[in-house]
Amino acid sequence: MSKNKVPLPKMYQGMESGQKHYEKKTPPNQPYIPGLSKAPPNSAPVSCTLARASETLIKEYQSKEKNPVQCLHEYASQRKVKLSFHEVDVLPSREHPLAIFAVQVEINNVMYPQGVGNTKKEAKTNAAIKAFEIGVLQKSNGNECVSQTVTNSQPSLDLGKTAEKHSVTQLYEYALAAGKSCEIVVGDERGPMGFKACVMLNNEYFVEAVAQNKKEAKRLAGVAALEKLNIRYAQEVAPEGKSLGQQFTDLVYNHLYMYLEQYSVLRYRRKSVAAVILVSDNKPEVISMAIGHQCLTPGNLSSDGRCLIDSDAAVLACRAFRRYLYLELQRYLAEPNSPICIYEMSPESGGLLNVKKDVTFHLFLSDPPSGDYSIFLSKPSALLTHEDNEEIARGVHKPAFEESDHGALSLRYTDGSLEHIIENTVVRETMDITQSRQEQLQVMSTCDKILKWNVLGVQGCLLTKIMAPFYFSSITLASQFDHGHLSRAVCCRLYDELNSQLPRGYSINHPWLYQSFIPPIHDLRNAESTELALNWAKGQDKIELTNGLTGRIVTESPTQSGATMSSRLCKAAMLRRFRQYCEQSHMTDVDPSLSYAETKQSAAAYQEAKTKFYEHCVESSIGGWVRKPVAVDEFLQ
Ligand SMILES: [Zn+2]
Repeated sequence: MSKNKVPLPKMYQGMESGQKHYEKKTPPNQPYIPGLSKAPPNSAPVSCTLARASETLIKEYQSKEKNPVQCLHEYASQRKVKLSFHEVDVLPSREHPLAIFAVQVEINNVMYPQGVGNTKKEAKTNAAIKAFEIGVLQKSNGNECVSQTVTNSQPSLDLGKTAEKHSVTQLYEYALAAGKSCEIVVGDERGPMGFKACVMLNNEYFVEAVAQNKKEAKRLAGVAALEKLNIRYAQEVAPEGKSLGQQFTDLVYNHLYMYLEQYSVLRYRRKSVAAVILVSDNKPEVISMAIGHQCLTPGNLSSDGRCLIDSDAAVLACRAFRRYLYLELQRYLAEPNSPICIYEMSPESGGLLNVKKDVTFHLFLSDPPSGDYSIFLSKPSALLTHEDNEEIARGVHKPAFEESDHGALSLRYTDGSLEHIIENTVVRETMDITQSRQEQLQVMSTCDKILKWNVLGVQGCLLTKIMAPFYFSSITLASQFDHGHLSRAVCCRLYDELNSQLPRGYSINHPWLYQSFIPPIHDLRNAESTELALNWAKGQDKIELTNGLTGRIVTESPTQSGATMSSRLCKAAMLRRFRQYCEQSHMTDVDPSLSYAETKQSAAAYQEAKTKFYEHCVESSIGGWVRKPVAVDEFLQ
């Protein structure tokens, strides 16, 4: 097999390098600027305004005869001021939750509030408008200037007295949780505006504040750091002010941390999180969630169906979701007409249950999914035009196909490394189970699995004997979002013609793609990672903890199983639940003496769809699907 070895994705490094990039471009000794930093109390207001522009230029600006960037350049040349534009990191805001780019204007060493946009051009224009209005037009005095501009550049936070009182403590707590070193350095000498305190995170300048005494400067520096870290923003913004993706994200983290009370060690560890959210009556609810990022070491692979092979968060969250589907089937059996049951039997479904039309399911991912998405992240897809973004806002996908290997299937190894599958052969086995002890285990990358769910449904194989296939309505990604790469990786690398080959009920699903941000207090990219994986689904009181490398429950798990230490999400457990429902509902076409593999084979429509999907992957040259040894599925119970 010819393959391209791809290095381990640097999934946790993006934000850090971005932060450094931002800091380098912001002069560290910058004074208070209305709209950008908090005004030091008891200090004389510093003007952020500049000499007035010529009447002609003002007229041209106001009549939009010239664009704001042009106007600013002209002003700079007229008044001989030093003008520059800086690309900076987007500060999340209520008004532009989905902004991708941010630009700040610097005039004579003074930075103006950032302008944001979906394209670099848009962000630059908005930044120019802010600088022109605040600095040049002098529309308002300093104080008004703050209230006019602060909402776009930085959340305007009304920090209560209690919060301010404890700002330094809160900051230290955050740093501890995030695994960062934190120090507030207060200068001994009094400057023209008072004493200065600098917050240093990981030994790098982060933010500063000035006040009449040292204690106050320290407290204000703490407040400024919390604001910049956006901690209170994440807690206080009303749901209606947030994008749907952000609502899902905040909901998932609130839910997760509630359950982490049962096992607090995981609270402060770096973790990749995934969840499935149900929306019914416009109300979102987390129904399954998982933490994990590893797959089994080869020596732990067993043929009894009792180990979890792939403990990637998305894969575990989907398995936990299927467990929830089984739990709901029990509800359906007991009360078929219950308004809270998610299933209904409709005349056109051919004896299969359907998920009710007003119930939708949504996938949340905290980290870039491995495979076709993560491999290309270092090279962002081409910039989207304003028109592209308008179409995307209506649900259109604009996949990026810029390189020859964009879209290729890939394998993930136990150590997390990835490699492209170049060979176009239909379905090969990764290895013989007896030989596996010497090799690294390979699984299909998470992107490829999500691609499969977008063709074959999220219910998996066995459940198609009970219910019609259905799909995730949206995917939210909370870090390193790139629409071009994500749309290609999760659906658009398949051609439409596959639709005509799939059996009834199956089609390529193109979910909504949402960008969001991890609430900063939960953003623990620098913390120590763990081999522990977690799963939970609605209907379960407790989380289950497994080890990603052994695929079995760990002794400290709040829930335990028998001597095999098998997870409630393992194949054998799923088969048991499937058989239980079939027996209870008197299904006659299910033979309990068949093996797991044979039972799956009996799901004829699903198998047909799967074969067409695999063949299509080869025909469209994205690669041949590689599956695990057949022996893994040959267990009987
Ligand atoms: Zn698509």
